[in-house]
Amino acid sequence: MSTLWNHYHTPKTIDEALKLLTDYGGQARIIAGGTDLLVDMRAGQHPAHEALIDITAIPEMSAIYRQEDRIYIGAGVTHTQIVRSAELQAHARCLVESCGVVGGPQVRNVATLGGNVAHALPAGDGTVSLVALAAEAEVIQAGERRWLPIGDLYLGPGKSLVDSTRDLLIQFRLRATGAREATAFSRIMRPQGVALPILGCAVWVRLDDTLTHYDSARVCIAPTGPTPERATEIEQALAGKPATAETIQQVILIAMEALHPRTSKYRATAEYRKEMIGVLLERTLSAAVTRAKGG
Ligand SMILES: Cc1cc2nc3c(=O)[nH]c(=O)nc-3n(C[C@H](O)[C@H](O)[C@H](O)COP(=O)(O)OP(=O)(O)OC[C@H]3O[C@@H](n4cnc5c(N)ncnc54)[C@H](O)[C@@H]3O)c2cc1C
Repeated sequence: MSTLWNHYHTPKTIDEALKLLTDYGGQARIIAGGTDLLVDMRAGQHPAHEALIDITAIPEMSAIYRQEDRIYIGAGVTHTQIVRSAELQAHARCLVESCGVVGGPQVRNVATLGGNVAHALPAGDGTVSLVALAAEAEVIQAGERRWLPIGDLYLGPGKSLVDSTRDLLIQFRLRATGAREATAFSRIMRPQGVALPILGCAVWVRLDDTLTHYDSARVCIAPTGPTPERATEIEQALAGKPATAETIQQVILIAMEALHPRTSKYRATAEYRKEMIGVLLERTLSAAVTRAKGG
């Protein structure tokens, strides 16, 4: 194993982690749960690193907390922590549902939301919900600490704006759902072992004062392209429409025109995946509307 890295550091503060990254001058890499990184390193998809810098002992990056109407989630927070968070269960349900299906319990106990995002795959389950929640990510690049819309971090499959040999993803923030608002996530996956998802879908909806019509909606269905993106055609089609089963059937037709999932031997045929867009939208929109009505 010494061929893959020579030194392993466990800094206790963000400053300490940044100093290590600077001192190694691009020869070290951030590690969190290691469930993507170690698999990739063993498969030879990364050059050997002089050092790994483990961020999981930095308290500021391992907390979930609320400030006014925003919820903050450290990049080093595990999927299990997210699933168990009462705050997220009540006000960001889709994230709890998506992190709850990542791998099995052993993976969820160590794998982090930051790792899911920095790995930059368009179908990362945590990612899909963060996009529908219009979350923002706080990053440190070249000494500058700034907040970016979550979508800005995705440059292509496996390509992140965050260079994990120099930059640090610190935390995420999102608006807690309020009255008449709710979210939901659902995923279609082959049942066997470590397979790739056929499609995942997260939605956020806000109903009008009478709870009968959509005021607005956000939808992310992935993977349907190289990066996880909002399905704006669906969002526009929902705004102002009655919150009924008929509307869902109408937007399914729009979604099937607008989205073009590809045939993939690891997922399914394009035709099957397109059909599944309808199944996922029906499940997630119905659940979110029921929740927004207080159900
Ligand atoms: C058996 C198995 C099943 C899985 N199932 C799923 C699944 O169902 N759904 C799913 O989405 N994923 C799945 N994964 C992938 C993986 O578990 C997740 O993507 C996980 O969230 C990665 O987090 P991590 O903490 O392990 O990241 P790591 O492997 O530690 O890191 C991943 C990448 O992010 C970088 N990085 C991590 N944290 C930071 C940070 N704070 N700042 C800068 N860079 C950082 C690392 O350098 C590395 O490049 C599975 C993996 C395994 C092994």
